[in-house]
Amino acid sequence: MRKGRLYVFTGPSGAGKGTVLHQLLDEVPGLFLSVSATTRAPRPGEQDGVHYYFISNAAFEQKIAENAFLEHAKYVDHYYGTLARPVEERLAAGHDVILEIEVQGAMQVHEKRPDAVMVFLAPPSLEELRARLYGRGTESEEKICKRLETARNELSYQDRFDHIVVNDTVGHAVGVLKNLILQNRAER
Ligand code: 5GP
Repeated sequence: MRKGRLYVFTGPSGAGKGTVLHQLLDEVPGLFLSVSATTRAPRPGEQDGVHYYFISNAAFEQKIAENAFLEHAKYVDHYYGTLARPVEERLAAGHDVILEIEVQGAMQVHEKRPDAVMVFLAPPSLEELRARLYGRGTESEEKICKRLETARNELSYQDRFDHIVVNDTVGHAVGVLKNLILQNRAER
């Protein structure tokens, strides 16, 4: 059976990754969004096993020791990581898999899986990013500042990605990604 393709989807917090991905998943069948593990606390409305696996520091470190992660990173004081097994199983079953992860993890996947398609979702500008983070209203002032500082660093990695998609409108970004995935499928 034909294996699925792995997509890495990265972009600064507030670039709109979640919104774009949800629309993309609605429009493209056969796509699977990997559920990451994290040590950060759930935001209101977030469910364990759906948005993330919310686990303790000790449990996360145990999984690192067991080599259970395809990649993992620390992002603004918390661990985030992709469990390797569910991703491998989905790919083997012929599904395309998307990892929505930050830049350090993206670089680890790039090393381990050179066949992964690397996509960077960029905000139209840093000002727009700041406005979106404040508008979301889920983080404290201090956390927003840290996220913006991290975003500046993340933007400097754009060139390492195969595709840079500017999220000026969600419809545009989704359209570009959809074409990319359908084209990749047609070529295999
Ligand atoms: P948030 O706290 O806003 O849900 O996520 C913070 C950042 O962590 C985002 O940039 C998100 O893409 C990233 N992230 C989520 N899951 C993972 C993961 O499994 N690995 C890595 N490296 N980053 C992740």
